Amino acid sequence: MKYIIGNWKMNMSAGEIVAFTRGVKKYKIPKNSNVQFGLAVPYVYILGMAKIQDHVWIGAQNVSEHDNGAFTGEISASMLGDVGLDFCIVGHSERRSLFNETDEQVNAKIKKLQEYDVMPLLCIGETEAQYEAGSTKEVLLSQITKAFEGIDKTKSIIVAYEPVWAIGTGKSASVETIRETVGFIRGEIRKLLGHNDTPILYGGSVNPSNSNAILRNAQVDGALIGGASLDADKFMQIASSLF
Ligand code: PEP
Repeated sequence: MKYIIGNWKMNMSAGEIVAFTRGVKKYKIPKNSNVQFGLAVPYVYILGMAKIQDHVWIGAQNVSEHDNGAFTGEISASMLGDVGLDFCIVGHSERRSLFNETDEQVNAKIKKLQEYDVMPLLCIGETEAQYEAGSTKEVLLSQITKAFEGIDKTKSIIVAYEPVWAIGTGKSASVETIRETVGFIRGEIRKLLGHNDTPILYGGSVNPSNSNAILRNAQVDGALIGGASLDADKFMQIASSLF
């Protein structure tokens, strides 16, 4: 199975979502393509999306690490499970950098999602300074180890390798860098979980011009797509690299 997951971030309106859905439906997806689509949408559109999209996983972009209670403005894992969400992004670099989300919070969020059977999609990645300093593997290992501490190893989780310097910059990592880094992540996750079943995606400026090379040659299980997932044509052109 391969995965094409869009992260809409804080974008889209109800009208734009209808247009996006129409745009996607113009494309024929071959029956044997074995591609699972997913969209991480802003909370307010989740229920509407669930009605108009068949066979597409609908996910959230964040979740509280707390149980239900006095946390004004927060959304719990129990609520995401209650409305039947398929997945939830955890630890996106924007949440880590703009909202000071720590590895400990990321770990708590994964555990809460597992409790309510919403699959976590964990984002990990190094900053440009860490990349330049040659500490990518050390950073990734620390992020994975802390995120996986005490989680249920029998439940599915997806990991996205997203170098922070490649997100929204138009500067994707090279196929060689992705292949090597994803291979490293795969090995470390195998050691931590004791199995090889965790899909690993790449994210960071994936677009229709670089998707063929990345999705076919970088030994990834799919892509997490930000900017290009706002446009139905670009999103489906990227996906068609896998058909
Ligand atoms: C993201 O934010 O997860 C992402 C991959 O963004 P972009 O594709 O715009 O770089």
